[in-house]
Amino acid sequence: MGKQNKQTVINEKDEINLTDERWQAIVQNDASYNEEFYYAVKTTKIFCLPSCKSRTPNRENVRVFLTQHGAIQENFRPCKRCKPTQESLQDINAVKKIKQYIDEHCNKSLTVKTLAKMIQCSTSDLEHKFHKFYGITLTEYVKQLRFARAMLFLANSDKSIMEIGFEIGIPNTEHHTGMSEKKK
Ligand SMILES: [Zn+2]
Repeated sequence: MGKQNKQTVINEKDEINLTDERWQAIVQNDASYNEEFYYAVKTTKIFCLPSCKSRTPNRENVRVFLTQHGAIQENFRPCKRCKPTQESLQDINAVKKIKQYIDEHCNKSLTVKTLAKMIQCSTSDLEHKFHKFYGITLTEYVKQLRFARAMLFLANSDKSIMEIGFEIGIPNTEHHTGMSEKKK
């Protein structure tokens, strides 16, 4: 295995099993499962909410995903009938752009405000979209990504924890208070 530069903490596929319970939810168009998963149909290349009133597909053609991201990653398109993505595809691309930006710049200080500005939406809007699409809050994502990278640094270097904290963008106040050496 080579060095991973483009590390991410989101499972790119997010595929989960089609259990009997989930299958029943699909057959019965059970809206109470709408927050739990999305189902995609291999033959039509479309993905739906469990509540979708479209014709029930053959069970063997169904794949189930935890997030919209998972289904889109596998090249499924949102159903026009049940609209599993309230957002337009343009919005989804914007959220993807933000995630990519975070992946590449997570060692810098990032604020939701700056990120929201990049795609010209409000901070709450961005938080909402990010969570809906990836199933994790933006703040939590950045935290987990930094943590994962810190672990990687720790495993592969003999730098101190403080140095690593600095590299991955965790501000260290001690660095400023305790280390200010003055030349005599
Ligand atoms: Zn549908």
